[in-house]
Amino acid sequence: MTAVQIADGVWRLPTAPADFINSYLLRGDDGTLTLVDAGTKGAPKKILSALAGLGLQPGDVTHLLLSHAHNDHTGGARKVVEATAAQVHTHEREAVYVREGRMPATDPSTRGGRLMARLPGRATGFAKVGVDGTFEDGDVLPLAGGIQVVHTPGHTPGHCSFLHPGSGVLITADAIFNVRGLRYAFKNSCTDVRLSRASAQRLGELDFAVAGFTHGAHVSTGAQVAVRAFLAGRSS
Ligand SMILES: [Zn+2]
Repeated sequence: MTAVQIADGVWRLPTAPADFINSYLLRGDDGTLTLVDAGTKGAPKKILSALAGLGLQPGDVTHLLLSHAHNDHTGGARKVVEATAAQVHTHEREAVYVREGRMPATDPSTRGGRLMARLPGRATGFAKVGVDGTFEDGDVLPLAGGIQVVHTPGHTPGHCSFLHPGSGVLITADAIFNVRGLRYAFKNSCTDVRLSRASAQRLGELDFAVAGFTHGAHVSTGAQVAVRAFLAGRSS
């Protein structure tokens, strides 16, 4: 997989075919790298080859930010840490799941959520990984010139999106997908479906030029208008 540059110092790293799962890489002025999400357990190989393709060293990745504890975002975290020695940071309400290698409960008010809840832990868990630090809503992390944490709970309790004002990139994580158009996350993957949709509205209040999704290709033209229209129910 090849990294896709989406703004100055920001790359989307597709770790599954057809842009279905993405990590993001942000470079600071000092050359240090911050990785957002680690994909599935098979993703680290692709992330490392993308780094090599950019002429970057694994050891330059100082931080791994995890948007939430689902195995398509955290499944590769342990291997990424082993390869890079990055510090792992996640929301304070997500840390317990990351440390224990398990996904938060799914919404019992949906049929799919009830079915998912019956899957054995080995089907949904991931390699547990240490958490070096936690963040909360509104924090501006001193990474890549400043990364603002936007808590968008509901998909999971500590699910977060990230705004990088320096480049104008918003990383929605799973608050919004771009899979055959903008859409919300699959209901059966959410802890609280209604809350996930309500909290996604926060993204419409932010200023950004490029929208990066963890599922689907980024949007770099008219991104803010498209996201606001979607959130207002004017598109799907
Ligand atoms: Zn998810």
